[in-house]
Amino acid sequence: MGVEHRIDLPLASPTVRPDAALAELTTVRIGGRPGQLVDCFSEADLVAAVRQTDSRGGPLLVIGGGSNLLAGEDLNALTVVRDRRGGARAEEREGRVLVTVEAGASWDALVEWTVGRGWAGLAALSGIPGSVGAAPVQNIGAYGAEVGQSIRSVRVFDRRSGALVELDAAALGFAYRDSALKRSLSGAAFPTPRWVVLDVSFALAAHPHPGVPGSDQAAESRSDRGVTAAGGHDQEADGSACGPAAVLELGGTVGSAGSGSQSGATATVGHDQLAEALGLAVGETAALTDIRRAVLAIRRGKGMVLDQSDHDTWSAGSFFTNPLVSEEIAAELPPDAPRFAAAGDLVKLSAAWLISRSGVERGQGMRPGARATASCKHVLALTNRGGATYADVMELADWIAARVADRFGVRLTAEPVLIPAAV
Ligand SMILES: Cc1cc2nc3c(=O)[nH]c(=O)nc-3n(C[C@H](O)[C@H](O)[C@H](O)COP(=O)(O)OP(=O)(O)OC[C@H]3O[C@@H](n4cnc5c(N)ncnc54)[C@H](O)[C@@H]3O)c2cc1C
Repeated sequence: MGVEHRIDLPLASPTVRPDAALAELTTVRIGGRPGQLVDCFSEADLVAAVRQTDSRGGPLLVIGGGSNLLAGEDLNALTVVRDRRGGARAEEREGRVLVTVEAGASWDALVEWTVGRGWAGLAALSGIPGSVGAAPVQNIGAYGAEVGQSIRSVRVFDRRSGALVELDAAALGFAYRDSALKRSLSGAAFPTPRWVVLDVSFALAAHPHPGVPGSDQAAESRSDRGVTAAGGHDQEADGSACGPAAVLELGGTVGSAGSGSQSGATATVGHDQLAEALGLAVGETAALTDIRRAVLAIRRGKGMVLDQSDHDTWSAGSFFTNPLVSEEIAAELPPDAPRFAAAGDLVKLSAAWLISRSGVERGQGMRPGARATASCKHVLALTNRGGATYADVMELADWIAARVADRFGVRLTAEPVLIPAAV
């Protein structure tokens, strides 16, 4: 018999008025008022709302934290549906734990809870905004981890068949920022996938990595040292409009990442920047709490943790995915262009490097005082400096993509879901 845990996690999005605009429901704070906003507090209500909207011919937007969306003003025809359920339950047994979480929960609250309990698998994904339900859609990833590595299955409502179905990891077809859910985002289903995620089950490790000699002690001694890092930016040009980049100093006591933290739980560090911040080599292990704290600090340095007072975080995160190209195309790039092996003999390039090297700077806008600019901390995030519109952001995005295409012959693809209008 395993040990059971239950918790109600905070939701991914705030309580808003029924007539709220997308500007209040998205992290880039852009977008008009939808025809209808439906908040659902039970699975039955959620499924009914989706069914009703689809039977009327849509369009339907099931929204989580609105952190991967850019919408226009003319959204009268759109029905927005929100899942207001954040319950999580876990069963811990023989070193493994199966965690099942309702889709409306805040992703980062889930990470904090699992790190606090000493369950390994999600720590490197700390600080990513949004909901648990959207996490599998683009297979969120950061600092050497992708959520697909930890997902066992997803329970969904299939809008095509009208059935409740369980999709396992193989059926979800995870790839870099991609999944079967995301690939279904087209035609009549758009801007929501064919499958609406109801809850997600994660298989996590409940104990320090087995077979790593001395991992507990190593993690504790590293905790004593604290975490230090300098920089934290990808290889980008300095932004003239934004002043000098801050240097991160992350020292101090390593604290708990949530109530009930179990010291000693570790995970392997799979990313060079994270390893450097922890004073480790890639492949070494660190305490989950240290990983979470280091990731959050690095992300803050890039404006990648939401902060209402910081316009650099008024974005949809990275606006472009890292391009996947053939080996031949990759070979034509300058020798110092970052290249990473990817599935299917493809090579993954750094979108941030390509953008910077094509002459775009942090803080860059189309004109002085522009309402949409590249973030002052990270050239890959396009930000709303106040009053920006869909057109402002897309003008900048198209200009950046054209510069990269001209300079390197590489096509950039937008990462957020783009909803110019709902007609
Ligand atoms: C500051 C910042 C940093 C970011 N950093 C990262 C990062 O490091 N790595 C990364 O991968 N992403 C990152 N993102 C992007 C974003 O946070 C993720 O894609 C996140 O998973 C989106 O979740 P959401 O709930 O906000 O989705 P939304 O923006 O609300 O929706 C996005 C899409 O998912 C669909 N969707 C939402 N909920 C469901 C559901 N229950 N079932 C089916 N479909 C659903 C929507 O219909 C829509 O098509 C970042 C974004 C920001 C603003």
